[in-house]
Amino acid sequence: MSLPKATELPIGAVVTEPGSTRRYSTAGWRTLKPVIHDDRCVRCQLCWLYCPEGTIAEVRGVFKVGGKTYDVKYEIIYDHCKGCGICANECPTKAIEMVPEAP
Ligand code: SF4
Ligand code: SF4
Repeated sequence: MSLPKATELPIGAVVTEPGSTRRYSTAGWRTLKPVIHDDRCVRCQLCWLYCPEGTIAEVRGVFKVGGKTYDVKYEIIYDHCKGCGICANECPTKAIEMVPEAP
């Protein structure tokens, strides 16, 4: 039996060629949405490292939070976040909360 190539699969299958998640939004899969509480973030980078969609951005700048100054902060690009919760699970300070999507 011969199997179809990735490019021959019907629409609806996940196309796996490099760069495809830039074109296909995975936000529609989400029932829970991660929200970063910046005041609890210690800038450990683990959420950025573990996100399977690469959808946590490391933003450079000067950010004053609760009397401290940081040169980086983390932001979620929601268009490509599928709501898996890995970031919240890995965050050592529980700075990421999974909240229900608005209906
Ligand atoms: S919920 Fe999953 S896909 Fe969304 S930012 Fe966190 S780790 Fe990435
Ligand atoms: S894992 Fe948590 S503490 Fe670490 S950078 Fe991400 S939000 Fe901040």
